Amino acid sequence: MSVTERIVVGHLYPSYLNIYADRGNIAVLAVRAAWRGLELDVRTIGPGDATPVDVDLFYVGGGQDREQALIAPDLASRGPALVDAVGGGAAALAVCGGYQLLGRFYRDRGGEELVGAGVLPLYTVAGERRMIGDVLLECELEPGDVRTLAGFENHAGRTILDSGAEPLGRVVSGFGNDGESGYEGCRAGRAIGTYLHGPLLPRNPWLADWLLAQALGHRTGEVRVFEPLRDDLEAEAHMVSSARARTRGGRYGRV
Ligand code: GLN
Repeated sequence: MSVTERIVVGHLYPSYLNIYADRGNIAVLAVRAAWRGLELDVRTIGPGDATPVDVDLFYVGGGQDREQALIAPDLASRGPALVDAVGGGAAALAVCGGYQLLGRFYRDRGGEELVGAGVLPLYTVAGERRMIGDVLLECELEPGDVRTLAGFENHAGRTILDSGAEPLGRVVSGFGNDGESGYEGCRAGRAIGTYLHGPLLPRNPWLADWLLAQALGHRTGEVRVFEPLRDDLEAEAHMVSSARARTRGGRYGRV
């Protein structure tokens, strides 16, 4: 009798950091795992909960400054455990407010500095004007395998990567990390941080598959290349989102 392979996901603060349907990313990971005969075992990690030691993929969504401030001390306290886990090969996807708090700190519009988990080599400072709109990136997570990533951004934070740090992608249209560098997000090993909401994964299934393969690689030692699925609907959503980004990405919003 064949045993179903399992991928353990640690979903950080789902009831605090979940705007723009970021929770939808978990649903996409679960169904794409199931289509490959894999089971996604999702553990919710809230304030005060222990950090499970067998997590293959950490996930954290976005949130307003208020929600970020509510969970930041708890997240900072589990920073060393997350740094160890990611250093040990666990994968991660962090979106917007969660992305900012996986860095060293987020200084919000009030000037309050929220200490981060220190997993990603970056820091963020909120600016006067929000960066809102559809975004299109060009990414190369695997050498020679250039892909596009389409999503939606809405953030006051300007994220500065440390020198030598790897961005997730080059901005084709939109603001990205700071509206100036021409780059978006950050990649550190199997950990990905990005400002792209949407949710992100339904319109970018290749990234969902990449994350699942990395997570499975953490559990089994072997990074598998999955058989492509028939992603007609996903491809259409990607096309629509990319076209929107090309025509109206990158406009400043009110505070
Ligand atoms: N509060 C943060 C900012 O404004 C993150 C916002 C978000 O997660 N969309 O930059």
